[in-house]
Amino acid sequence: MLNRISGECLCGTVKFSVNEDFDNFYLCHCKQCQQITGSAFAANILTSLDNITWICGTTRITTFRHPDRDFSKAFCDKCGSGLPYPNKTNTALVIPAGCLKGPIKIKPEARVFAEESPNWLEQGLQSKPYNGFVTSK
Ligand SMILES: [Zn+2]
Ligand SMILES: [Zn+2]
Repeated sequence: MLNRISGECLCGTVKFSVNEDFDNFYLCHCKQCQQITGSAFAANILTSLDNITWICGTTRITTFRHPDRDFSKAFCDKCGSGLPYPNKTNTALVIPAGCLKGPIKIKPEARVFAEESPNWLEQGLQSKPYNGFVTSK
């Protein structure tokens, strides 16, 4: 029996669930993913198109599709959180890993477009971890 994983946007308007039956997990460092996430990479899990049950809020999902590249983003129009969407060729469902609740078993298998990584990423990953905000210097 497959584990059921729930997901939602930050404001809770959009909720869904998926079976923990994932095919691939990639970190994408391409410039477009940097821009649209506002961060160093996107974390995308791929699964089958029909592996999703929407619970609420689908009318609040906006999808951006890049006119030239195979690049899309679906997001809650209230809070901007990334949400699952079908890829351009309609062969897979792309799930932004951060919208899933709870731990998942699959681990990222590759960092794609790694050469486009920002020059602060490696140092950022090696910087000192804190549990919460840094309160003093
Ligand atoms: Zn939201
Ligand atoms: Zn990308």
